[in-house]
Amino acid sequence: MGGDDSAGDDSAGPGEGVLSLLPSGQRLTRPEYNRLLVCATLFHEGPESRAGLHNATGIPTSRLSEVCGDLLRGGLIRESIVAPPEGNGRGRPQTLLEIELRGLGAACVSYDHGEVTAAVADLAGTVRWRRRWTGPFSAEETLRLIARAGRLAVAAAAKAGVEVVAVGAADPGTVDAAAGRSVRAVSMPGWRNAPVVAALGKATGLPAMIDRGDGWQALGEAAFGAGRGVNHAVYVTLGEGIGGGIVENGRLLAGRDGSAGEIGHTRVSDSGPPCGCGGRGCLEAHLAPARLAALWKGDEPDQARGAAVGGEAPDEFSRLLAAAREGDGRARKVLAEAAGALARGLGNVVSLLNPEQIILGGRFVEAGETILDPLRRGLPAQALPEMLQGVEVRLAELGETSAFLGVAARVRNQLFAYPSVGARVGGGGTKGSDRVSSEESP
Ligand SMILES: [Zn+2]
Repeated sequence: MGGDDSAGDDSAGPGEGVLSLLPSGQRLTRPEYNRLLVCATLFHEGPESRAGLHNATGIPTSRLSEVCGDLLRGGLIRESIVAPPEGNGRGRPQTLLEIELRGLGAACVSYDHGEVTAAVADLAGTVRWRRRWTGPFSAEETLRLIARAGRLAVAAAAKAGVEVVAVGAADPGTVDAAAGRSVRAVSMPGWRNAPVVAALGKATGLPAMIDRGDGWQALGEAAFGAGRGVNHAVYVTLGEGIGGGIVENGRLLAGRDGSAGEIGHTRVSDSGPPCGCGGRGCLEAHLAPARLAALWKGDEPDQARGAAVGGEAPDEFSRLLAAAREGDGRARKVLAEAAGALARGLGNVVSLLNPEQIILGGRFVEAGETILDPLRRGLPAQALPEMLQGVEVRLAELGETSAFLGVAARVRNQLFAYPSVGARVGGGGTKGSDRVSSEESP
């Protein structure tokens, strides 16, 4: 691509496409309010007839047909004819309206040392476009590339007929979500306080946001993967370290500064292995793949912790898993001890958070039953039986698309939130200024 990365069209953004039908903010015209209400109702309640929508929203029938007409023309909802159920004597096909999520999307830019990936997922949960750049890149180059990747993603989406609503940055380290900055990432030397959200916003002209990559993954799995239909899920992922996220009713628990769910440095033993954080007995120190592989091979595990082992470690861990599957007693013993530490960590999670489901992602998926089996045997000793009862422990389903889909999940939750009853209504060519209140029908 040519030209200067900063020379984007700053004024571009929601306003021209179908999103102009769904503005956000405190000041809504009455048609805007009604359109938001209809979309939110169809998103949360599922397909409805016009009569059902009238009952659910209280919008007068004549006004409702205008609202639906606008939304149908804009492509935000679609009509489907549903045959009557068999044996239903009334026997007339019904026309239902449903939200159309495939024309809207979210862009995601993820980055780590030497690598930037951009993707677009539509709001129905399909990844529609993806591209990866591999470095090495300096910190400055990385930030420029993040902006460019975001802009390319939005353009690629438009070609695919997807209007991007917002862009999310998936960060490998610590973020300040409110300030829109990537604070620090151990894996990215020289990368400090990078203004990622400002760069993405400027490059794309769209709302931008940042969160931990593990947090986006948790949201993605909860909305579109292993956690579909579950309201209280805890996601724990194994890479070189351990991260995670806590999702409650579709929202990621943030904590004070966005680090809630970073379970890797919870302590599960007093005299356990040293951790990269300077402590001892952290969950991620017990489960570091490089350390487990070293224990299996009989090497000095303390020399092999963390990322210091380098690129060879993943293969060694995979070999350990393969050996365990083939019945290698030493491999099984190493994994059983690791599963014991994981059971202590997850037992505490269960006692503290009372989840419905624990989703294990990243390299836990690769380990599969070699770690799940001893984990299931170890868990009962780590929490009250009534707390553990019914908690489902399962593997993640989405692989590396989970973060992209996590951005889509948050975007659609924000876009299709019910408009607040107190939203100011006025301007925009309607009759005068008024306010929608609970006493007044919309
Ligand atoms: Zn630690």
